[in-house]
Amino acid sequence: MKKKKIMIIHTGGTISMSEDEQTGAVSPGERNPLTTIPLIVDSKIDIHSHELFNLPSPHMTTQHMLELSKFIDLQVVENAIEGFVVTHGTDTLEETAFFLDLTVQTRVPVVLTGAMRSSNEIGSDGPYNLLSSVKVAASEEAKNKGVLVVLNDEVHTAKNVTKTHTSNIATFQSPQYGPIGIVTKRGAFFHHSPVSEDKYDVEALTKNVMLLKAYAGMDSSIFLALKDMKVDGVILEALGQGNIPPTAVDGVKALRNADIPIVMVSRCFNGIVQDIYGYDGGGRKLKELGVIFSNGLNGQKARIKLMVALESTRNTTDLQMLFLK
Ligand code: ASP
Repeated sequence: MKKKKIMIIHTGGTISMSEDEQTGAVSPGERNPLTTIPLIVDSKIDIHSHELFNLPSPHMTTQHMLELSKFIDLQVVENAIEGFVVTHGTDTLEETAFFLDLTVQTRVPVVLTGAMRSSNEIGSDGPYNLLSSVKVAASEEAKNKGVLVVLNDEVHTAKNVTKTHTSNIATFQSPQYGPIGIVTKRGAFFHHSPVSEDKYDVEALTKNVMLLKAYAGMDSSIFLALKDMKVDGVILEALGQGNIPPTAVDGVKALRNADIPIVMVSRCFNGIVQDIYGYDGGGRKLKELGVIFSNGLNGQKARIKLMVALESTRNTTDLQMLFLK
């Protein structure tokens, strides 16, 4: 029987780090410890490994993400790879996963995983998460579900998953929606499928998009600074259903007058933003100013999407359509 070709692409993170026994500091070493762990997997799976980066994930940039996306598509064409597992630091894992979800053209499974405990810590979760991810990447049911994130026996979509805890191994959750599958000793079992897909063909990333969080008493100064910086777009993590303090409205107007797109998300981690409130700073007023409403993405993912979308359009109406997906 023909074996399934699965490629593990290492990019770094705690999953590839070790703890110094003297100082307790966790950092990457010369050698990625994961590459020396014998992975006991199904005899029907043929594992290929590649170390693309060895970075803590706070060092990851969108240029690295683009390089990874291109690498994955190339491997399908050149080496007939049938599924991918990407190991990654957990801090920015959701951003890379969502970037790949938007840009990778292949339909073969792409699974991201990481670990909360480094390779030599007691209860290290890295090898186990890696093994679970290989099972998912090799499963037929993982096809056409977009990019997936697998940790702690759960399968999440790149679109909904977020890191929710600084240290607990059950950190990855999909608020409001939950995981779409589970992983057991016998394999991967899916119970939901994503209803839509959102794809972009990106050759380069040239836009500078900033992320702002609203707070009680926020004023316009930071918006004015962004206007002077001539940023290409702003994500505004607004209050509740999509409102900001009245003192910040002039800042929004200044950015809109400079034709800088503003995409609004909520700082609540459940729900979507809507043009409900008509008071000064309320969602209705923001809609009139041309603020784009997003559909439940968190701020960091909306930033990734706006960067990607701006490579093909700056038109506010078109961008609003894209952010309804
Ligand atoms: N700080 C680490 C990183 O993101 C955390 C982890 O991998 O769990 O690289």
